[in-house]
Amino acid sequence: MRGRKPRPIGYNGVVPPRKSTAKKSTAKKSTAKKSPVKKATAKQAAASSPQLAEYKRKRDFSKTPEPSGGPEPAAAGNRFVVQRHRARALHYDFRLEMDGVLVSWAIPKGPSLDPAAKRLAVHVEDHPLEYFDFEGVIPHGEYGGGDVIVWDWGTYDALYTDNAVQAVADGELHIEMFGTKLHGRFVFIRRGQDRSGKEQWLMIHKKDEYATAGWDAENFPESVRSGRTNDEVKENPDAVWRSDAPVALASLDFSTSRPDIAALDALGAKGEWEF
Ligand code: MN
Repeated sequence: MRGRKPRPIGYNGVVPPRKSTAKKSTAKKSTAKKSPVKKATAKQAAASSPQLAEYKRKRDFSKTPEPSGGPEPAAAGNRFVVQRHRARALHYDFRLEMDGVLVSWAIPKGPSLDPAAKRLAVHVEDHPLEYFDFEGVIPHGEYGGGDVIVWDWGTYDALYTDNAVQAVADGELHIEMFGTKLHGRFVFIRRGQDRSGKEQWLMIHKKDEYATAGWDAENFPESVRSGRTNDEVKENPDAVWRSDAPVALASLDFSTSRPDIAALDALGAKGEWEF
């Protein structure tokens, strides 16, 4: 845990970047209010969301620890997360909270602050908001099997549009990022499709005050959530997804010895968890 505040045992999608712990409740409210893309509602992101159909089709939730998309997702907002995911091939999953889901791209080389680095970003299926702070291990043999860390997170603003969803549909999205590692202005531009029909985009950092020549994501390998590397998470995953439990109970944090673990066992697969 390393000084990290104990986290709720259940679904943690609402936990904001840790700098706001001091005034948690007010920070949360103001974030929600000023969100430029705040049209999402709990209903839109519910388990039945048609936007998540492809995400669900690919996964067997009786086997994978990934979140399946619960009926009560996090509050709407403009968060982003980048996960470093060592699956069959290393890639960075870049996700923008938008309209109740995490609109996602897979970036093989990871984002860069170098405006000369035009990164391939493959547009992939939307992910449920529950995935926001997922860090752990997906079983070998499952879709995306491998280890995942929360490589960066924060908030973003969509630029030059009041409808980020439409901007993505139109193939050009400009954003300003306020993360731990990623700062400043980026553009995502759709360039075409690969043979499987997946959209290929480029992610490019603009020439702003954060532009840094040669900036390589691989030089910053630690999780912003836990400080751990992918290797450390793989060796000792502290998040285990219990796919047979309600989504609010499913993500267990075993990183420290706490009485609530036993209490959760006693609770069984039904009832409500109160931290
Ligand atoms: Mn991935």
